[in-house]
Amino acid sequence: MDNARIADRLDAFASLLELADANPYTARAYRRAAKTIRGAGTPVAELVRSGRVRALRGIGAGIEARLRELVETGEIAEIAELERELSPDLVGLGRYLGLSAKRSVELARALDVRSADELREAAAAGRLRTVPGIGPKTEAQLLEALGREADAQPRRGILLDRASELVGAIAEALDGEPAGDVRRWRDSCERLAVVCAAGDPGAVVARFAELPAIVALVEAGDRRALGVTVEGVPLELVVAEPAQFGTALVRATGSPAYVAALEPLPDAPAEEAVYRALGIPWCPPELREQPFRGEPPPLVELDDIRGDLHCHTTWSDGRASVEEMGRAARERGYEYLAICDHTPAVGAVTGLTPDDVRRQAEEIRTANEMLAPFRILRGIECDILADGRLDLPDDVLAELDWVQASVHGGQRMPQAEMTKRVEEALRNPHVRCLSHPKGRYINRRPENALDLERVFEVALEQGVALEVNGLPDRLDLSGEHVRDALRAGVEIVCSTDAHSIRGLGNMRFSVATARRGWATAAHVVNARPLESVLRRGAA
Ligand SMILES: [Zn+2]
Ligand SMILES: [Zn+2]
Repeated sequence: MDNARIADRLDAFASLLELADANPYTARAYRRAAKTIRGAGTPVAELVRSGRVRALRGIGAGIEARLRELVETGEIAEIAELERELSPDLVGLGRYLGLSAKRSVELARALDVRSADELREAAAAGRLRTVPGIGPKTEAQLLEALGREADAQPRRGILLDRASELVGAIAEALDGEPAGDVRRWRDSCERLAVVCAAGDPGAVVARFAELPAIVALVEAGDRRALGVTVEGVPLELVVAEPAQFGTALVRATGSPAYVAALEPLPDAPAEEAVYRALGIPWCPPELREQPFRGEPPPLVELDDIRGDLHCHTTWSDGRASVEEMGRAARERGYEYLAICDHTPAVGAVTGLTPDDVRRQAEEIRTANEMLAPFRILRGIECDILADGRLDLPDDVLAELDWVQASVHGGQRMPQAEMTKRVEEALRNPHVRCLSHPKGRYINRRPENALDLERVFEVALEQGVALEVNGLPDRLDLSGEHVRDALRAGVEIVCSTDAHSIRGLGNMRFSVATARRGWATAAHVVNARPLESVLRRGAA
């Protein structure tokens, strides 16, 4: 059994665990193990047989036992059991309809159906209302959702990191290109799409249907198929004639409004050729939201970023030490990293007192001796208290190289109060950047009422930058707000707010969000050399 096959079975197992509403960490652990195995240079089956497989990262006793079963018997018995219990395509359809896996299974039992098709038939025959707990209103909603299936729109999108991983893996497996919302780096992805080029589309569609990430095919045409992922999000596959691949990619990438404004599109094998034939410059996918035919600005690139100005360590709620974070940032090719742990008012986690800040300085000094010329900056993520005062005294803030000010508690304040609170904090002469200004958690907590226009005025006057937080569930400022900030003349910082070494990798999400706001390198504080970052005010 080769590594790819082993990884596929683990992925399938992870999908089923997710469907079964099992502990999400378990499913994630299997998914991570699958990734490790797919990338392993040695035959994993041999490692399993010789008892050495746990040397691979992320493979513990539980996963080892499953691997042994898989290598010895050719299958994981629980996969078949879960499949019998859950009917993945049916549960996938259930997810799409907004039902939990448990509810889908109950529904299937009550209707005595085994597959998504049988569920559709039962619904069409009016049998849904015979199920206890389904009244006429719910039935009508389910029927309506089933009727919309062909141009499926999920009720809410999935986060960019998961969406890009999912779409990226499917594109890679099918030798195609990611398109849709992921390629535009939308903060919540609803339209997932992959575009492939093939003379004979049948084989590609068949491979698509077999992928462990796809639990049900809602629709399968000649050159287009619609699958439902484990999350219940539809994913569209387009298989273009090679001579029309570029055209298909433009169509599957842009927002409907953007694409409509370019139509009719000429046929071309590559995207650049489509734009050439239209007589307009190629447009970065991040800008393909609103109709645009002009010359795009030179958007900031990941490579322009010289350092990360917001990360945490074990001093507060991070998972790595100062030195480990510094080393990891240096390995990324950065010149500097600001350690910005929390202050006590954050509440839920440990915050640094003035005394802690000074003790941390010692640790930073030692790490700097080891990592020079790389530079770890003494920073803080200082809570903004309810009255606008900061959570550390001025003399402590004055010692620091980089001060982020953050609202954590009390995000629901009315607009006037919230704006006054933040304004007050921005007027503190030590503050350099306002973290996650709108305080949203995508799909979980709406934006706070902060009046950004007013904040931009004060930030401009005080020389304070606004953060584009790269945590995939924050992405705050959003692209739209970045654009407003830049129009107001305010500078931005692309930060990860990393709580681990891996978290530093979220810079790509911050940069993409800044790009969605039309930012160039000149707008981004941490695209500049250290001296310029340390110097307050203009570049
Ligand atoms: Zn924060
Ligand atoms: Zn933070």
